[in-house]
Amino acid sequence: MKISDILSRGRSFSFEFFPPKTPAAEVQLEQALLELEPLGPSFVSVTYGAGGSTRERTHEVVVGILTRTSMTPMAHLTCAGHTRAELRGIVGRYRDAGVENILALHGDPPAELGLGPGELAYATDLVELVRDTGDFSVGVAVHPEGHPASPDRATDRRNQAHKLHLADFGVSQFFFRVSDYTAFMDDMAAYDVTAPVLPGIMPVTNVASVARMAAMSGAAFPPELEARLARHGDDAEAVRREGIDAATELCQGLLDAGAPGLHFYTLNRSHATRDIYANLGLAAGGAG
Ligand SMILES: Cc1cc2nc3c(=O)[nH]c(=O)nc-3n(C[C@H](O)[C@H](O)[C@H](O)COP(=O)(O)OP(=O)(O)OC[C@H]3O[C@@H](n4cnc5c(N)ncnc54)[C@H](O)[C@@H]3O)c2cc1C
Repeated sequence: MKISDILSRGRSFSFEFFPPKTPAAEVQLEQALLELEPLGPSFVSVTYGAGGSTRERTHEVVVGILTRTSMTPMAHLTCAGHTRAELRGIVGRYRDAGVENILALHGDPPAELGLGPGELAYATDLVELVRDTGDFSVGVAVHPEGHPASPDRATDRRNQAHKLHLADFGVSQFFFRVSDYTAFMDDMAAYDVTAPVLPGIMPVTNVASVARMAAMSGAAFPPELEARLARHGDDAEAVRREGIDAATELCQGLLDAGAPGLHFYTLNRSHATRDIYANLGLAAGGAG
């Protein structure tokens, strides 16, 4: 099913996974998929390691979800380091396998791989290539706090609005304040953007790792959230519970503010997402 059709019917609740690199990671992903499928997600997505060794694995995991589970998959795809012909080949294989949804991204391959820039300059070029290759529903990445490489906020907002005009929907980078999302959507409305944008949710269950990811993505790790978690010191279970509570409050605030759904970064684990689902009172299968 196409995600644009899912979104036109009402709120969407989706989960993001990454392709496993080791047999143990493969078992963990299988387990997470098994435990999250009963929640009836609207769709699930699988990331693409720009320049990484797991690129072929994304295809396998996406097609596996399509053929072996009841869930609708979306494949992430990055254009960095790829030729046009390679990208057409990857997208064509998805089309032929019956995959209907692609998140078109630029990607940041590590410099040490020496991949070169690739033939496409921006994610918008990949949106066009995907549309030329098949009848897909195409999403794009959205950065509510601005993309770290943008020269200034006005340019950043203009580029993001242009991208959302071309795409069917957006999925956002994670952030921790409802106002980051509402301010972004207000700015997009000023550019006449009508595409729905699903806020990305990263529950903080481990302060150090999320603080590191936030620094890389340009998301602010708000001092008030840090202080709230720091109150629990080394009590890892209490930190986890507080992180789940904070994420639940963020989710509720976003839904109250009119967000068209929620997109959970699961990190291939099911617990945090299941706990937040329960806190929000989302019944299994009630997500569609
Ligand atoms: C929901 C989500 C999922 C992601 N999944 C993956 C994944 O699976 N694999 C992965 O490797 N990475 C992933 N990323 C990370 C993403 O690849 C990086 O954030 C990357 O740096 C930017 O990708 P983009 O698609 O937003 O790029 P773009 O939209 O191409 O933007 C990149 C930069 O170019 C600028 N720009 C855009 N258009 C123009 C223009 N016309 N003129 C001048 N400048 C312009 C933008 O302002 C920005 O600074 C994901 C990010 C998000 C939010």
